[in-house]
Amino acid sequence: MRLKGKIAFITGASAGIGAATAMAFAQEGARLLLAARRAGKLAQTASRAVDRGAAAVHSISLDVRSRFAVQRAIDELPPEWAEIDILVNNAGLSRGMDKLYTGRIEDWEEMIDTNVKGLLYVARAVVPGMVVRGRGHVVTLGSMAGEMVYPNGAVYCASKAAARTINDGLREDLLGTPVRVTSIDPGLVETEFSQIRFHGDVEKAAKVYKGIKPLTGEDIADAILWAVTRPAHVNIARVSLTSIHQANTLLVHRES
Ligand code: NAP
Repeated sequence: MRLKGKIAFITGASAGIGAATAMAFAQEGARLLLAARRAGKLAQTASRAVDRGAAAVHSISLDVRSRFAVQRAIDELPPEWAEIDILVNNAGLSRGMDKLYTGRIEDWEEMIDTNVKGLLYVARAVVPGMVVRGRGHVVTLGSMAGEMVYPNGAVYCASKAAARTINDGLREDLLGTPVRVTSIDPGLVETEFSQIRFHGDVEKAAKVYKGIKPLTGEDIADAILWAVTRPAHVNIARVSLTSIHQANTLLVHRES
């Protein structure tokens, strides 16, 4: 029960990595504040988390692209939920795989509004309280895509390069406080991610993972749990992880 009594706020908790992190934290006895747009899927995560041992769960329907909704959600938390110990700033998505010069501008805006501006809005709303309370840990979901761009993915990769820089800047700006800042940077993880990227085209999404054993949401949750359970003076700056079938964003070994 390493997270007993801790309040963890997880964005993007209705699916994939966020939902898996909710389960991993639940098993450690955390109190979970879960946020996403799809209330039905969020309720499913919440009920599974209670079964797994979460001390309590509070769900918030939230679109991180709205700065006002994000600030309001934090300002209006019931007092027993206000003192967030761990923020997992995870909500994010990719849309489309197109050459930069033919890409859909709506896709670019959705990615930048969610992965960059949403990330900033959530951090801006939550971190001041951590500084005042003298405790806290911010975990940002970056990506291997933030380290190395791949063809037809420039805008998603740029959004994750921005997340990396924001995460590093936050760590610098929090120096002298006990608040820790960690970036978790995975390679290919099989979640709803590719289905969302290809606007619901399940076959196209399945091809992304064909012939490889991809990482799972649980693998990433395991890395997040490890980072947040180190001794208070240890700050894990970055965890970069891939499946054994992936070396970087450009090199993937597929079994035929
Ligand atoms: P996923 O299964 O599609 O889950 C994405 C989550 O983000 C969902 O819960 C979704 O919830 C939420 N979300 C998206 N837009 C949102 C918005 N505007 N407001 C609030 N919540 C929003 O994808 P995933 O793989 O778990 O991705 C989680 C994070 O990991 C993302 O930041 C992604 O970039 C990063 N990542 C993924 C991979 C990968 O290969 N899967 C690799 C590296 C990094 P609702 O739709 O219900 O709002």
